Amino acid sequence: MARKKEKTKKIRLQTPRGMKDILPEEYPLWQWFFEKSKKVLEYYGFSRIETPIIEKAELFLRGHGKESELVQKEMYAFKTKEEADWLVLRPEGTAPIARAYLEHGFFNLPQPVKLYYFGPFFRHERPQFGRYRQFYQLGYEILGGDQPILDAEVILIGKAILNEIGFKDKEIQIFLNSIGCSKCRKKYLKVLKKFYRSNIKKVCSECQLRYKKNPLRMLDCKSVKCQSIKEKAPSFLDFLCENCSNHFRQVLSYLDSLGIDYYLDKTLVRGLDYYTKTVIEFNIEAHNKELSVGGGGRYDELIKVLGRIDKPAVGMAFGVERILEIIKSRKIKIETEKPEIFLIQIGPRAKEEALKLLERFRKSNIPVSANLSKDNLKDQLKLADRLGVNYCLILGQQEINDGMIILKDMISGIQENLPLERIEEEIKKRLGARVIVKGSETSNN
Ligand code: AMP
Repeated sequence: MARKKEKTKKIRLQTPRGMKDILPEEYPLWQWFFEKSKKVLEYYGFSRIETPIIEKAELFLRGHGKESELVQKEMYAFKTKEEADWLVLRPEGTAPIARAYLEHGFFNLPQPVKLYYFGPFFRHERPQFGRYRQFYQLGYEILGGDQPILDAEVILIGKAILNEIGFKDKEIQIFLNSIGCSKCRKKYLKVLKKFYRSNIKKVCSECQLRYKKNPLRMLDCKSVKCQSIKEKAPSFLDFLCENCSNHFRQVLSYLDSLGIDYYLDKTLVRGLDYYTKTVIEFNIEAHNKELSVGGGGRYDELIKVLGRIDKPAVGMAFGVERILEIIKSRKIKIETEKPEIFLIQIGPRAKEEALKLLERFRKSNIPVSANLSKDNLKDQLKLADRLGVNYCLILGQQEINDGMIILKDMISGIQENLPLERIEEEIKKRLGARVIVKGSETSNN
């Protein structure tokens, strides 16, 4: 039988639409952001958790509801040969954390449990600047507590993280709203639908659908057509039940006493459907308002929906790309650890010895940089200069024969001959504690 000649279409090999590489030159910025946030979160007693990037689709179907926009439009779902269930690339972090809380019996621990995470998430959205199909979030959740002070703590920590990475109080905008509980929401939705019923022809086609499936999300619509109507919509705050109203009032009162400014935004409902009571959005002033840098809120019913255990919770997540894009555009200087010493080798024996030396330095926690592919002194001095190191170690044939190595002070130009055998000790003696790093980082450029 003649074999059909398969037509092969040449696919350009590049990242899928809406996804990006994090390049080596950007990575220090990512690391810097993570370290700064981690410091704040661990100070406030949060422990790191990492859940799988893939979850069962059922988690989000139950957590968000089948009709939610996230489930309907944004999930990357697939089936594998072995798994009977639909799997998805996780579109957000809260439902997986709630799942882990239930799965590992965290509800038996002293409450509340404080967890944070950092990793990639996936949503099939229309890509544009600041909106990607794979994006990173730094998120933190306080699970198993219903007190309003926890909402205030989440907001305080969000602000502290932004402060820690250089944003000033006056440019951090915090938007708040309350979307009540299932009881008062019923009442509010009736009023909201009544309001929109008389305006239904004036709203966009998407909102006409939302009117039937998820009317609260009409308040979230970004279409120009809907803006003026949205502004006239009734405010949820006027329809909160006593419990939700007291809760929100107390959250605001904690923020007032902390001196944290906020805006009440009656159209803030958040994209994810499981929120109850307090909803939160963070923005940076003079930055595109539609591209919030962080968001979250209280979700008192999610854990109950997933595991029939009544555990209220609150949390939020920052969009890492959006924050770093602002940092990059402002050219905010980040402190990175730079190597203090560059090892120069000249000649084949010195090259071989350099490899052994680098390993010795690594074991002694002395960060030394080198480029073993280079051969001559001039090229290597140029590299050392570019790195801005304070000292160079120079190893040539003569030094090896004498069992010595040269230490050159790059500022004064003074050179010393030091014994190769005891070089770690000699360096530590001369450079003091500042050259010794925590852990065992050695950069080889
Ligand atoms: P959410 O999980 O929708 O509450 O979003 C929390 C934060 O994640 C937002 O404030 C954004 O900063 C960020 N974020 C959400 N979706 C995207 C996306 N598609 N691309 C980039 N960042 C996003």
